[in-house]
Amino acid sequence: MTENEQPPFTEENSPTDGTPAVRSLRELIDRVTGRSLESAVPQEDAGIADVVPFPFLALVGQPEMKLALLLAMINHNMGGVLLIGPRGTGKTTAVRSLPELLPQAPRSLCYYGCLPEDIEAGGVDAVCPDCAKKYAEDEPLAVLDQVRLVELPLNARLEDVVGGLDERAALQGQIRLRRGILAQADRNLLYVDEVNLLSDEVVDAILDAAAQGYYLVRRGPMSSTYRARFVLVGSMNPEEGRLRPQILDRFGLRVVVRGLPNRDERLEAYKRAHAYLTNPRQVSAEFSDASILAQEDIQAARDLLPQVEIPDKVSQQGLELVERLKVDSLRAEITMFEAARAHAVADARLKVTSEDLLTVAPMALRLRRSNFIDDYFTQYEFEEQELTNILDDIIPQKKPKKKKGA
Ligand SMILES: [Zn+2]
Repeated sequence: MTENEQPPFTEENSPTDGTPAVRSLRELIDRVTGRSLESAVPQEDAGIADVVPFPFLALVGQPEMKLALLLAMINHNMGGVLLIGPRGTGKTTAVRSLPELLPQAPRSLCYYGCLPEDIEAGGVDAVCPDCAKKYAEDEPLAVLDQVRLVELPLNARLEDVVGGLDERAALQGQIRLRRGILAQADRNLLYVDEVNLLSDEVVDAILDAAAQGYYLVRRGPMSSTYRARFVLVGSMNPEEGRLRPQILDRFGLRVVVRGLPNRDERLEAYKRAHAYLTNPRQVSAEFSDASILAQEDIQAARDLLPQVEIPDKVSQQGLELVERLKVDSLRAEITMFEAARAHAVADARLKVTSEDLLTVAPMALRLRRSNFIDDYFTQYEFEEQELTNILDDIIPQKKPKKKKGA
């Protein structure tokens, strides 16, 4: 730690009775992000090319992107995050830095990805014969391991994404379902780059699973339900094609990521990138204490999330906002309220305030309106009115009681 760094959270904020207390996560991130970095000493070449991710906390600027990703790590029920912006704005770097902020997750030791919780949920039949045997002999099916980043390949087919009949088992005359990328992403982080270039059916399957936390596969007589509780992040470069409105609507938070706006920030970003290229381990080590604190806070926030409430006054404000913006999709308020709950708990509160709403609303509500739908309804209302007028002319109602609009 450098000497100019403030001490970590003060004692009065820390848990005393054993219950997890969330300190202000946002404050931690803001503070750590702004600190100065020691100049990196070139790394001795160990001859091992293992990848040390750039620390999330070392990212310069982009507060909205960081906040959106943070909220998505705390609350899965937001429909994930979509990052929209040109290349070179740090989207992928930010996403790749996220796993270290997530708590460890059980990693299956089996080709089929069987987990002990599958047995808890569906009995021994829910896992492969090998794992059923292991379970009976009290051998572990999984080990605790660092959360992984699962990147969806651009050429992924629906079959790869949701899973399908297992050809390996079929060769031995067995019929089994093979789990797909979505099931492998359970408890991990799923990154879908260039989401605008994927087929709608693939993106739909991903967004369905992300929204529900599980998905069902049916192939002939076989069906299987897989858990898919992942943090979903999509990204796209609008220069390469637009995202169809029905797909765009299904993403939770939307962040438009632009280049860093001021010179100081750009210079700092350059220095950090340089330090990281010179010695990734040193940069990682400089942020590791703060990263561990952030990871603990994210876990505590996740644990407390079910207790977070939205007072009636605040939900009414949110609904008025959606109404006045003329957003039709119910997903708008689901995302907004879920994000507001995550924002409150990230700030160590169990009640959502208007300020939480104020912070998350732009991310939840932007890019939700469609000119097409606006025009469509205007046209529809015009036609309805005309229809009513003509009908009234031909068959006059005894008691005229016209309602405006449709
Ligand atoms: Zn297995």
